[in-house]
Amino acid sequence: MANYDYDLFVIGAGSGGVRAARVAAMGGARVAVAEEHRVGGTCVIRGCVPKKFMVYASEVTNQLKTARGFGWTIPEATFDWKTFLEAKDVEIARLSGIYVANLGKAGCELVHARAVLKDAHTVELVGKDRTVTADKILIATGGRPTVPQNVPGIEHAITSNEAFHLESLPKSILVVGGGYIAVEFAGIFAGLGVKTTLLYRGPNILRGFDDDVRVHLAREMERRGIQIVLGCEHDRIEKTADGLVSHLNNDITLTTEQVMFATGREPYVEGLGLETAGVELNERGAVKVDEWSRTNVENIFAVGDVTDRINLTPVAIREGAAFAETQFRDNPTTYDHEMVATAVFSQPPIGTVGMSEYEARHAFGEVDVYRSVFRPMKVTFYHGEEQTLMKLLVNPKDQKVVGVHVVGPDSPEIIQMAAIAVKMGVTKQQWDSTCAVHPTAAEELVTMKDRYVPQNLGGNA
Ligand code: NDP
Repeated sequence: MANYDYDLFVIGAGSGGVRAARVAAMGGARVAVAEEHRVGGTCVIRGCVPKKFMVYASEVTNQLKTARGFGWTIPEATFDWKTFLEAKDVEIARLSGIYVANLGKAGCELVHARAVLKDAHTVELVGKDRTVTADKILIATGGRPTVPQNVPGIEHAITSNEAFHLESLPKSILVVGGGYIAVEFAGIFAGLGVKTTLLYRGPNILRGFDDDVRVHLAREMERRGIQIVLGCEHDRIEKTADGLVSHLNNDITLTTEQVMFATGREPYVEGLGLETAGVELNERGAVKVDEWSRTNVENIFAVGDVTDRINLTPVAIREGAAFAETQFRDNPTTYDHEMVATAVFSQPPIGTVGMSEYEARHAFGEVDVYRSVFRPMKVTFYHGEEQTLMKLLVNPKDQKVVGVHVVGPDSPEIIQMAAIAVKMGVTKQQWDSTCAVHPTAAEELVTMKDRYVPQNLGGNA
């Protein structure tokens, strides 16, 4: 075997790269990891973790309302963005430090540099005047926000990257997009008292999610004061003394202090030397890999968002671990991408696992739907109007539960547990044999006996 500097060189110290590096190193491999920004990747530095802190901060508005309903007298509460940002940055730095420490404990070398492939085994560390060789290379560079380039004035808009570091909270914001990031940030800003409008080009937000979930969330977001504008797009953005004027393609103009585009993310492949090393991309510009996360170049692998399979942190971690188990621990492992549960931290949040009703009908011809829309007891107590949606989809042929969808408080926590049963292939009879936990909202999930007859079969338009 050729004499390389390392057994494994990982490009990108995010969730997938760090897990792969640590598992390989703990198996005895000589591992180095290159990171050009801060260690932790999108999830820790500019994604899931700071986003969740922002959700926690903004949810307080609703909690104060609830508290008043329960008899508390609360003087007018105020929120200080700068205080929050400072605390958030301290916590992010702590978590990034833990990632660095864990790499060190596992025996990985961390290089703070941009890494560029020179050939299939050689990596240049830019600015370090250093070139190293490795037997195997793992690309784990993640993704980054993408905005439409054909909108004049787009340079005035921010993306989620900047939203984490705004100097001050705007008085008003237009959030563009109908996916995860758009609905999550619309909820955050609205909760923090920003006049928030969400603009989406399609007929309803969250394309690809169950139609009932989409309708329910949109209604609940509007209930919390978010204006949702559908079926139109930007022609241009104009900066004026009054703010940013969004000229839409239906002749409407909206003026807001800030515009944030949350119009998707793209795999971060630029300038990595992939062409030089002969690594192929797929039609969406992601690194093409097989089930073992192997690219077309035998010794080069890729995991996480850069491969654009399921772009979620826990999936990247599993892909990274499976790669390292296979290549460095003599334990061939592939990650099964079926029945991956996910949560959207909108307000209220969504927890979902398995198929939407539309997908289930297409797969099985027919589907048994169990559905409940109700006001949780906490809400009825203070005469609130917020409703929770719970929906179960069952394949009538074998009675297996093929989809669970919850929109309401704690739904991300609920779905994590439901996902275990669904992944194991639970039947509706087994599901129903589970005794309710009372009094909870989740008990509704195991007490839905009657099939629901849908009014509108819709489509995932
Ligand atoms: P998504 O792919 O979820 O949504 C992108 C949205 O932007 C869609 O509504 C899309 O519309 C719209 N869009 C795309 N291009 C344009 C355009 N040119 N003009 C107007 N609208 C456009 O991307 P996100 O950026 O929200 O999130 C990226 C990924 O990150 C997610 O898919 C998810 O995998 C992950 N993520 C997960 C989170 C979680 O687990 N809670 C949180 C945040 C992100 P259309 O539907 O019509 O295509």
